[in-house]
Amino acid sequence: MCADFRNLQRQVENLQEAGIDQLHFDIMDGHFVPNITFGPLVIEALRPVTSLPFDAHLMVSEPEKWVEPFAKAGADFVTVHVEATLHLYRLIQHIKSTGAKAGVSLNPATPVGSLEEILPDVDLILVMSVEPGFAGQPFVPGSIEKVKRVRDLISRTGSAAKIFVDGGIREDNIAALANAGMDRAVLGSGLFDPSRSFETVIRSLRAACEAGISR
Ligand code: ZN
Repeated sequence: MCADFRNLQRQVENLQEAGIDQLHFDIMDGHFVPNITFGPLVIEALRPVTSLPFDAHLMVSEPEKWVEPFAKAGADFVTVHVEATLHLYRLIQHIKSTGAKAGVSLNPATPVGSLEEILPDVDLILVMSVEPGFAGQPFVPGSIEKVKRVRDLISRTGSAAKIFVDGGIREDNIAALANAGMDRAVLGSGLFDPSRSFETVIRSLRAACEAGISR
């Protein structure tokens, strides 16, 4: 959602050249979150542009209706919110039945314990480190401790789930997140910085991360 929508194809090509690992699409419906972005058409249009994995982060009410359209459009991961469904186990099985990998996301106020029962079934935990809805929001400081608690839970249960963190990630917090157990950082306004190239930002974030890592 932070990309230049007049030049999406070029942006994707530039991001790939700059060395990103995958593309994260923020899907907002104006109901689950107070903003609207785009639907599966954009993912479908970009699918032929790159072989990078696509992660569709569904910030929508009734995610059950949207799993299949996004998987068909080319999402390799479909990530849904714990808060958006009463039947998370069924929803995860539904995602897997499409051939996509299943991700589960937690809003800042949602406790880590809500993952306990479904952790063996998910491929990815997406910890929201901002309140979802808009780009450029301040990082919630408690997210670092939260990532540690998710990491502990994963270790305890022997789950293979990866921890992604989404929102407000920059040079000043990325190492602490990595130390806490983050596997991958989702970058938005921190990467789309008009004063620096993608290469410069990514190099600087990787350096900050490596310099600060203690594990
Ligand atoms: Zn996201």
